[in-house]
Amino acid sequence: MKVTVGKAGILALVLVGFLLGWVAERTEVLHPDAILAQQEPSASPTKALASRDVYYPGSEDLAPDEMRVVACGTGMPNARPSQAAACWLLELGNGDKFIFDIGLGSAERIAAQKIPYDYLDKVFLGHLHADHIGDLDALWVGGVTGNRVKPLRVWGPNGTKPEYGTKYMVDRMKEMYTWDKASRMGNVDIRGLEIEVTEFDYTAVNAVIYQENGVTISTIPAIHALDGSVSFIVEWNGLKFAFSSDTYPNKWWMEYAAGADIAIHECFASPQILVDKQKFTPGTALNVGTQVHTSPLMFGKVMSTIKPRMAVGYHFFNDFDTGPIVEAEVRRTYDGPLALARDYMVFNVTKDTIRVRMTAYDEDIWPMPATMAKQPPDLSQRVGFSDYINGGRVVYDDLIKEMYDEINTLYGTNIPLPD
Ligand SMILES: [Zn+2]
Ligand SMILES: [Zn+2]
Repeated sequence: MKVTVGKAGILALVLVGFLLGWVAERTEVLHPDAILAQQEPSASPTKALASRDVYYPGSEDLAPDEMRVVACGTGMPNARPSQAAACWLLELGNGDKFIFDIGLGSAERIAAQKIPYDYLDKVFLGHLHADHIGDLDALWVGGVTGNRVKPLRVWGPNGTKPEYGTKYMVDRMKEMYTWDKASRMGNVDIRGLEIEVTEFDYTAVNAVIYQENGVTISTIPAIHALDGSVSFIVEWNGLKFAFSSDTYPNKWWMEYAAGADIAIHECFASPQILVDKQKFTPGTALNVGTQVHTSPLMFGKVMSTIKPRMAVGYHFFNDFDTGPIVEAEVRRTYDGPLALARDYMVFNVTKDTIRVRMTAYDEDIWPMPATMAKQPPDLSQRVGFSDYINGGRVVYDDLIKEMYDEINTLYGTNIPLPD
């Protein structure tokens, strides 16, 4: 049957079309960043944007029910400018902040978050490889010069003998910095040089090692290089954050990281990348890539089993050429939400959404102030100089008096010249 439309019909269709277009135009909601043509003549049309595609540290409050996860180190034990070794910062809407692993190079990524060091006083170590603890000293001592007046609190596993445990490592680190500490005594407020270590049983399964302020942190065993590696599960406000540190796929992770809102698991470079780029021999690449660590293929399988709301892979050099290879391998075994981490990647997690962005960071970071009044240095603690070294001073009394006078005038203080 032939359908014909008369002139009146065509007119009616055109009218309906116009009407629908007009309604659509009237009802479409403008994007918050839309720049309106109808500005006042004197006003600049380029106002601050309501939404951002990047995260600027120090510019966003966390909602009470929100967690922010910052990749402060996603790389390897060998240093490179673009990726520090393992480190993850977890910030919660209740104000609490936790550092998970602190590998070499990560202290500067932490500094870039512009958070007072007094709030960065809780560090959880998954194991004692250099790429997971290498900047503990930088946070410890650098945090004190950066105005931390609180002790540093460190949680980490024991080992099969005391020498393999976290407490042994921290005690030796403190010994290593004997001269450093002696040099600061009596010169600055050194309360932040105290370290409180909580060493826990690396074999414990789903054991609570931290419970404060509504936050529960549990530990499960990991399988990595040597007995004494663990992973962590954080539960807060109905959200679950799981961090593997380093591990071969294991049954404890499968059980306790299941259904995590954000699951961060190592995703080591594939054996072929380890040969081509890392310059390992094929034998070493296969051993390290498939026995000591979790390869991308295995990582995908792990995530397919635990089904997190966001799977995060880290612990490989994530470049323009390696990234696609790793992603293709992961996608052979996993098709869920995925982020292959780079340093400064940021995740905002709520029950409804997970937003992934990169940080726009300031290279020239100054520390934030202390959260408590600083104590004047206890002069009785000062070790001081020998007469021999003191005897080498060139006398600049006039210049020094000028600076004391200037500061006392500027800040209304009355600090006397030293004897
Ligand atoms: Zn390791
Ligand atoms: Zn590692």
